[in-house]
Amino acid sequence: MSADTPLIRYAYVGPPEVGERPRGEPGATIAGTADLERWLLAHPEAEAEGATYVVDLEGRLRLAARRSEHIDCAGGCSVLAAGEIRFARAADRRFVVREVSNQSTGYCPDPDCWPAVGRALAAAGIDAPRSFTRAFVFRRCPACAQINLVKDEWFVCAACDAELPRAWNFA
Ligand SMILES: [Zn+2]
Repeated sequence: MSADTPLIRYAYVGPPEVGERPRGEPGATIAGTADLERWLLAHPEAEAEGATYVVDLEGRLRLAARRSEHIDCAGGCSVLAAGEIRFARAADRRFVVREVSNQSTGYCPDPDCWPAVGRALAAAGIDAPRSFTRAFVFRRCPACAQINLVKDEWFVCAACDAELPRAWNFA
């Protein structure tokens, strides 16, 4: 994928009762390393547990506590990416990304959303891996609409045994 490839806007596809309920402030915007230091100081459990993140439509990283819903972190909006992230201190005391995934059953983003994550982290000056440390493959069943997490290339619906498409299909 080239740097010019347009990014997909992921709309919320999770349970309607979560999508429609009122919500408070979106996740904290992390525009630089000072924002990250401040956020981790306020959320000390995140160093061990990780955090919920989205990349908003402006391409900015937003963080919320681990068990937050991604749609709350996004302020109810569509996103360029969503998942779980964990930071660790490097030898020079700066925080770096230790683990990052696209695990979000609210948005079911394709692993191809990585460039949005890489750019948001680079823009904030945070060192990161070159891709997701764990990539999740989501598919909606064309027969029964069940959201499936595909494992080991097994493209079969867990609810009804229908075959799942090879391409991401939440658009
Ligand atoms: Zn099915």
